[in-house]
Amino acid sequence: MQYVGKVVLPEGKKVAVNLGFDFDAFSVWMETFKQSSQAYMSRGEYGAEVGVPRILDLLKKYDIEASFCVPGHTADSYPDICKEIIKEGHEILHHGYVHEDPTFLPIEEEEKILVKGLEALEKLGVKPIGYRSPGFDLSPNTLNLLEKHGIKYDSSLMGNDFYPYHPRVCEVNYDKGNVFGEPLSIVEMPVTWYLDDFPHLEFIGTRTGMKPPSQVFEIWKMYFDYAVENTENGMMVVTMHPQVIGRPHNIIMLEQFINYVLERGGWITSLRNIYKSVEF
Ligand SMILES: [Zn+2]
Repeated sequence: MQYVGKVVLPEGKKVAVNLGFDFDAFSVWMETFKQSSQAYMSRGEYGAEVGVPRILDLLKKYDIEASFCVPGHTADSYPDICKEIIKEGHEILHHGYVHEDPTFLPIEEEEKILVKGLEALEKLGVKPIGYRSPGFDLSPNTLNLLEKHGIKYDSSLMGNDFYPYHPRVCEVNYDKGNVFGEPLSIVEMPVTWYLDDFPHLEFIGTRTGMKPPSQVFEIWKMYFDYAVENTENGMMVVTMHPQVIGRPHNIIMLEQFINYVLERGGWITSLRNIYKSVEF
């Protein structure tokens, strides 16, 4: 059985909602998509120079504290913009160095990258207590490494939708069935690709994307409606990217979503605030 927690919500609130912005800038193109040409770099530049300020303005308008997942490479490339995010009171999570997917890395290499990311954030005066994997995926060693380096919660796994839980490492066995290890003390704040702007909206060659944001709004709205109707002390994590959600048509949709959630008892806040409110 999964070891599930509940979020103690402020009076009158029905669901905790986290707006998370993965500030990948160049790194997602360089590492995940193996593209480092000028046009791809300019998409990262757009996220930093246009997307982030637009998002910060919107968050300020509604007095929302959000979570920014920042690869070390972004911190090194755009220290001033990162400092602006911190100054506005938002939270910074670890998000790799150059957006490396840890899934198949040997443990030594994975730890080296984890430390390099921590060192880059340290230059901004940040010691993160949260982590999001750049690949929305983990190696069998990741959770233990995160605990070793002082990370209190991860937000990369999909084993639940509305409740935080203590994750267990799944031992994969094709012959005898899979077995889970003991629940770890680190807390998982579950994500899903449905609540991620990137696959829906970003155009990458022949892949999908370019959907009207109204479709994405419909998915996110229904997810939230379900949570309001069917959960108690639950939460949902929305994952966005400044270079995607910062585009004009998309940020209009984000503002609509914020209004929808606020009008119906959503508590929009950072993952660190949700973490502080979790009881097991
Ligand atoms: Zn990312």
